[in-house]
Amino acid sequence: MSGLPEPRSSLGLREGYHSLQVDAEVRLNTNESPWPPPEAWRAELAAATAGVAWARYPDRSAAALRSAIAAAHGVRPDQVFAANGSNEVLQAICLAYGGPERTALTFEPTYALHGHIAHLSGTRVRVVERDAELRLAPGAVAAAVGCLDPAITFLCSPNNPTGMLDDPGVLDAALSAGSGLVVLDEAYGQFAERSALPLVRDDCPLVVVRTFSKTWSLAALRLGYAVAPAPVVATLERVALPYHLDAFKQIAGRLALGYEADMRERVAALVSERDRLVAGLGALPVKVWPSQANFVLLRPDGRGGREVWKGLLERSVLVRDTSSWPGLAGCLRVTVGTPGEDDRFLAALAEVLA
Ligand SMILES: *Cc1c(COP(=O)(O)O)cnc(C)c1O
Repeated sequence: MSGLPEPRSSLGLREGYHSLQVDAEVRLNTNESPWPPPEAWRAELAAATAGVAWARYPDRSAAALRSAIAAAHGVRPDQVFAANGSNEVLQAICLAYGGPERTALTFEPTYALHGHIAHLSGTRVRVVERDAELRLAPGAVAAAVGCLDPAITFLCSPNNPTGMLDDPGVLDAALSAGSGLVVLDEAYGQFAERSALPLVRDDCPLVVVRTFSKTWSLAALRLGYAVAPAPVVATLERVALPYHLDAFKQIAGRLALGYEADMRERVAALVSERDRLVAGLGALPVKVWPSQANFVLLRPDGRGGREVWKGLLERSVLVRDTSSWPGLAGCLRVTVGTPGEDDRFLAALAEVLA
């Protein structure tokens, strides 16, 4: 028997949250960009890092990076909190505004990490389910928020894994029915027709979270941020570890913002590729939900999600098996890849379903 101590009991039996990392020729399971960031950015980054004083701690306030993010969104630098991926932003929010005697509310199915990170921070997690079409009615949000008055309400727009945008009334309902923070995860915001960024103000409890992992083709960089009321940003800084953003990341993120036009081109190309992928799925016996992101949720008719997922993997195509997630029986989520990858996926799916 091991003499090692038990972890704290509130951790429960919860496993860590991980996407499967297996070898497959076509990897369409984690919503990354299929294309690398611009070559010019890499060259600029290499030159800029040559000047880093590596022996010294980095700028603790990440001033240049935050100014660049603020300028990109027309807000002030004191309304920007950056961290190691938007997941760390979510963790800081839970550490600062959640905790043992507080509640976080999620609307499932949604991004599993909202509930997971809240739970890890000791926050009580309450779940309200979306309707049978996986949509959320403003009235249902107002009722849930009014009844629970959560310290944190998580929304996700476009929602992962459904790909859909919520009715604009959903955000209004969440903001007006309660007194807590409303955290809107816009990891896929640039793919969609609308964003809540223009609604962020110092006197409104709205926090919009974004990431460099998807639209910016920089998942390896681990950089995300919140645009939030300045007092909320100041609070998040109190729970962040000192120097949590390394010098390399601060430079890389700031320089990346100089290539916004390239990012928008990649996003536009993925949106038209998504439409082509959805059209291809239209010829197969699957239900498809309308997506405003770089992934598509689908449910093969009369076949188990797991079985179809395995059939795809046997053909070296890896998608996300969401069939065991609440409300998603039989469903799979596929990331929009390059045209070649998507054709491989469509051909493999047609074979599996034949
Ligand atoms: C991919 C994703 C993120 C990204 O998290 P990072 O830590 O920034 O890589 C955040 N939210 C949602 C909904 C996502 O799908």
